[in-house]
Amino acid sequence: MNILVTGGAGYIGSHVVKLLTEQNYNPIIFDNLSRGHIEAVPNGIPFENVDLLDKESLTKAVSKYKIDAVIHFAAFAYVGESVEDPLMYYRNNVVGSFNLFSTLKDFGILKSVFSSTCSIYGNPVSVPISEVQASNPINPYAKTKLMVEEILADYDTAYNMKSVCLRYFNAAGASADSSIGESHDPEPHLIPLVLFAALGKRDSIKIFGTDYDTPDGTCIRDYIHVEDLADAHVRALKYLLDGKPSNIINLGTGDGNSVKDVIDSARRITGRDIAEVIAPRREGDPARLVADNTKAREVLGWIPKYDINGVLETAWKWHLNPKY
Ligand code: UDP
Repeated sequence: MNILVTGGAGYIGSHVVKLLTEQNYNPIIFDNLSRGHIEAVPNGIPFENVDLLDKESLTKAVSKYKIDAVIHFAAFAYVGESVEDPLMYYRNNVVGSFNLFSTLKDFGILKSVFSSTCSIYGNPVSVPISEVQASNPINPYAKTKLMVEEILADYDTAYNMKSVCLRYFNAAGASADSSIGESHDPEPHLIPLVLFAALGKRDSIKIFGTDYDTPDGTCIRDYIHVEDLADAHVRALKYLLDGKPSNIINLGTGDGNSVKDVIDSARRITGRDIAEVIAPRREGDPARLVADNTKAREVLGWIPKYDINGVLETAWKWHLNPKY
């Protein structure tokens, strides 16, 4: 089976490519390398440096392969950047996805797994969050993801294009063999920043707010290991290849960890001092985001294997010796 992976040189995409190869699928990567890393592309995997905004090149690239299904990651994913430059986000994430799915429709490629986000729920009405909770995105990034989910729903009705939209909670960690991992520039995420402080690349980690309505006053998130995410994508792909209907599925562990929990666990796992500094709340951060992952377990038979310690252990191994 030939599986197109857009954004396959990126953080989550590269872990999915690795797993697809291990499970004897043939991944084909389309990536414009604006945020991805060529070093994350394994030797021998077909790779096209193509931008989804360039419809002509995209059509040419798709026509070169006999594609059975698609996993679509290529997108910008920084909330803060999306608030500062919404135009860039609507163009890249919405127009890019529109071009992709319209091209796929023309070629009769009608099965797609889409990389979505729990930020679609905005400030949740209740926690843990299940898929029936209403979407209420509060930043342009989340809105672009919801718009693409809606395009996909309409393409199913009109063109029989089947999709699984996977709404991730906080992706983190690195591959168990340390061959690939997280490398963003700039890096906004808690776990890499805590480990940078452990490495001495930063003086300290800032805690954004200690007055939330949580047991220790810091925000609670559901940190899901990138290899568990990859496993869910391959399961969603098989689900579609089995002819099952479109679906929307949360991906999280179901467990929440506070910012302070993460810093304390990082101190234990790294054995290093990590200085913390209390800072004001970051705009737009809900107090608690934790997945209800019942649907992923039932529909995909997915069981996440890593907890926060496994996330931090693999991330630490990676950051001690990052390949890119
Ligand atoms: N956070 C923090 N200090 C940092 C970066 C993040 O306290 O330097 C907090 C942030 O406010 C949030 C949690 O850590 O509550 C996770 O943030 P991250 O940016 O990793 O992911 P997000 O939840 O925004 O997707």
